[in-house]
Amino acid sequence: MSNDNHPIKRFHGQENTEQTRGRENPERSHGWENIAPSFSALALHAGYDPAEHHHSSGVPLYQTAAYALPNEEYASRIVFSELDDDIYSRISNPTTGILEKRLAALHGVSGAVATSSGLAALGDAILNIAAGGGRILTSYRLYGGTVAAFSNVLPDYGISFDFAHNPDDPRSWEERIRPDTKALLVESVSNPLNAVADLGTLAGIAHTHGIALIVDNTLATPYLLNPFDFGADIVVYSTTKSINGHGNAIGGIVLESGAFDYASGRYPQFSRKAWTLRTRDGRERSILDVAPNTPFTARLRSFIVTLLGSSPSPFNSYLTLLGLETLSARLDKETRTARKVAEFLDGDPRVAKVFHPAAHDYAYRDLASKYLKHDGSTLITFDLDTEERKRDVLDALRLFQLQANIGDSKSLAVDPLLVTHSELTPDELDAAGIHHEAIRLSIGLEEPDDLIADLAQALDHAYGIANN
Ligand SMILES: *Cc1c(COP(=O)(O)O)cnc(C)c1O
Repeated sequence: MSNDNHPIKRFHGQENTEQTRGRENPERSHGWENIAPSFSALALHAGYDPAEHHHSSGVPLYQTAAYALPNEEYASRIVFSELDDDIYSRISNPTTGILEKRLAALHGVSGAVATSSGLAALGDAILNIAAGGGRILTSYRLYGGTVAAFSNVLPDYGISFDFAHNPDDPRSWEERIRPDTKALLVESVSNPLNAVADLGTLAGIAHTHGIALIVDNTLATPYLLNPFDFGADIVVYSTTKSINGHGNAIGGIVLESGAFDYASGRYPQFSRKAWTLRTRDGRERSILDVAPNTPFTARLRSFIVTLLGSSPSPFNSYLTLLGLETLSARLDKETRTARKVAEFLDGDPRVAKVFHPAAHDYAYRDLASKYLKHDGSTLITFDLDTEERKRDVLDALRLFQLQANIGDSKSLAVDPLLVTHSELTPDELDAAGIHHEAIRLSIGLEEPDDLIADLAQALDHAYGIANN
C-alpha cells in the first residue's frame, strides 16, 4: 500500500489529507517518535491529542450541528479544501473525526469515514464503487440485512449482484466476473457460521481484473484481522458490534487502503470534474485531484455521506470511542471463553454440529490460523436435532439474553432463522448453509463456567421436555 505502514506514522496520521483533522502539536507528537505503539496503545490514544482540547483526558463530545466560523476567509479556506476543518456535522464532526482517525491508525491507513450504521457503511460503499450501475460479485455467506439489501433494494437502482456458488473455490469467483463487475465483496469471517474467506486469493483475482475487493470485517475486528495486510482495498464495519462492545450505539465505518488505482476506465466517477470540488478561482476538480491518496473515502464523504446524509450522531461516535478503548482486552478474554464454550458444545452428544474454530470438524482450520489472531471468534453457531428443541433451548437460557446483536460485553443468543436472517428466502438460507435447528451465540465477558452452566441447564431442560 502507498502509506508508510510504520506504527508511528499510523499514530500520527498521514500527510494532511482531506481526512486528517485537528491541528498538529509538534511538542507532544515528538514524544512518540521512539515508541512503536501496540494495538492496545493505539486504541487508547491514536488520533487524539489532549493539548488540542483543553487537556481533556477523555475525548470530548462535540454535540453540535454546526460551527461558528470566525470569518469569510476562514470559511472559504474550508469550502475550497485548502483547510481541513468543520462547517456542519452532516459533513464532519471533531468527535467522529477522532473515531475515524483512531480506526484508520489501527489499520495502518489514512482514509476513513464513519456512518450511521453498518448497513449504511455497506450501502454507501457500494453506491460509491458502482456509480452509474454495474454488478457486485459476492456470496450468500453474509449478514441477513446485507443479503436483503442486495436482493430487494439496490437492483432497483441499477446495481445487480452475482453470487459465487461455492465461495470456497476461487474458480467460482473467477468465472462470474463480467465487464461491468465493480467489486468483489466478502465477509472475512461470516455471520453466523464462522466461514473464513481466503482474502489473499480473492484480492489476487480481483486485482488481476482491475476490480476492488471490499471486505466486511465486522466479526473479526481489526484486532483479530487486518484485511489490508492481505490485499483488501476497502474495509467496512458495523461498529455496533465488537468495536463498540457495549450494545449501546448503532454505527459503521468505511476505510480504504490508499493503494487501489481508481484512475482506470472502470471507475470514471473518481476522475470526473465537479463544480462542488472547484478551487477558489472556479476551476473544477475531480476527487483524484483533491484527494489522490484517499479517493474512495474522500468521494464517499463529499458525495454520498454529505449529500445522502448517512453521517453518525456525534454522541454515538463518543460511545463507540469509549468502547474501542478496551477492544483488545475484551477480545482476548471473549475468544478464550468462546473456545471453552465451543469445546463444551462440541463434546455434548445432544449437539449435532458446532461452527467455531474449536470444533473438531471445523472446515476452515487452515484459513483461520492463517488469517485470525488466536484462531479466534466470539461467535458460536450450533445445530440441535429439531427446530422444537432449538426453541426450547433458547427459551430455557437464563444468562444468555435473546438479542438480535453480537459483540456485546454480555453474552447473547438468537435464532438466526427467525431473527437475524429472516429476510433470506429458503433457497438463500440453503445457499448460506444456515440450518433450521441453528442457535447463534455471541460470547461476552462472563466466565466460561457461567456460560457452560447456562447452556447445560437449558439443554437438560429441552431434552427433559422432549422425553415427557
Ligand atoms: C450487524 C452487521 C451488519 C449491519 O450493521 P448495523 O450496524 O446493524 O447496520 C453488517 N455486517 C455484519 C457482518 C453484521 O454483523
